[in-house]
Amino acid sequence: ECSGGREGACSGARAARAVTEAHSGVRVQAGGTLGVFGGGQLGRMLGLAVRRLGYRFAVYSDVEGGPAAEVADFAVTANYDDEEAIASFASRVDAATFEFENVPAVVGEVASRAVPVRPRGELLHTVQNRLREKQGLERLGLPVAPFHAIEHPGDVAIASRKLDGRGVLKTVSFGYDGKGQRKVESGAELGAAWEELGRVPAVLEHFVPFEEEISVIAARGVHGEIAIYEPFSNHHENHILDVTVQPAAIGLTGELEEIARTVLEGFDVVGLLCIELFRLADGSLVVNEIAPRPHNSGHLTIEAAHCCQFQNQARAVLGLPLGSTRRIGPPAAMANLLGELWSLGEPNWDAALTLPGVSLHLYGKKDARPGRKMGHLTAVADTAAAAAARVREARLALGSR
Ligand code: AMP
Repeated sequence: ECSGGREGACSGARAARAVTEAHSGVRVQAGGTLGVFGGGQLGRMLGLAVRRLGYRFAVYSDVEGGPAAEVADFAVTANYDDEEAIASFASRVDAATFEFENVPAVVGEVASRAVPVRPRGELLHTVQNRLREKQGLERLGLPVAPFHAIEHPGDVAIASRKLDGRGVLKTVSFGYDGKGQRKVESGAELGAAWEELGRVPAVLEHFVPFEEEISVIAARGVHGEIAIYEPFSNHHENHILDVTVQPAAIGLTGELEEIARTVLEGFDVVGLLCIELFRLADGSLVVNEIAPRPHNSGHLTIEAAHCCQFQNQARAVLGLPLGSTRRIGPPAAMANLLGELWSLGEPNWDAALTLPGVSLHLYGKKDARPGRKMGHLTAVADTAAAAAARVREARLALGSR
């Protein structure tokens, strides 16, 4: 029941758990249409994978044009709470998914009356709220950092007594790339940190003294089959993913496979998701968060894997068999290209593209604002370290004149 991972990695694994969904097992016939809610680069790369399979691709976004719409057969621009527009869009597609989490629940509810929505919309309700997400992960028996909910001033006093050291205070909603977060050195700083975040509902997490941040991306098909990619090692700058390398030194251990299976089956996901984890010095793992969609750390699978994360997302949503998650060969590394790279004018694309093993992906965004993800580079090389060095070299070369 496992089409990915290392050779034999799934032998002896427990039997797959059955999928329950409203449109159980429905498979979209070749030439059908996959619709995505959300219009960014994740939708764009999904669209390219969908079209390569020979299916049609449609985008629903509240912004006109954009990365995904540029590669779509058709695109609809409407608000995410416009039930009529959602129903009309759903009537024109054969299966739907989403490419970012902060889509209102009504999208999944309305669309799923007409077509399979994979993963199911209810999952968004869970991951849109850090507290619900953490409680969900804890209920599944997964290792998470100790946490305390902060909603009222009284919670601050209780949580600060329980915190024995550093902590990270995070708003429960709309936090990404480190937005809506404050580090605290001790419980004494908690009140001020909560004030700074605007006294909105938040979660205090105990600080995890991690050695490395890793991510695992996995897909689950309509019949419950699971495919897992080897873990990625992630390096952040200013809370934004900067460079990813695959394989991570840890490799796809049985423990990581079990975590991925537990999340996919526990939340009854059909589709693809990413699990972000901390690896501690003693080898233990802590789950930080999950994202029920392709992930920035998986972009290098376009070059590195037999079947990339977008192709597997497309296959899962369309009800097709999953593809192999194994690396084709050499290690790979990915470097994000943020808007500030454009501050001195057009980057020197030739300088990067003439380096061996380097690929360029631009998302078609017009406005290069600082911190905005405009594209990425991937490099493949003989070792993970060489791939990382090569991709950094390529990005540096973009600034050469
Ligand atoms: P998040 O928005 O939860 O992905 O957090 C952004 C980044 O903050 C992570 O990638 C970590 O580098 C750091 N971080 C988040 N939570 C913790 C924690 N409990 N302990 C230590 N570092 C954290």
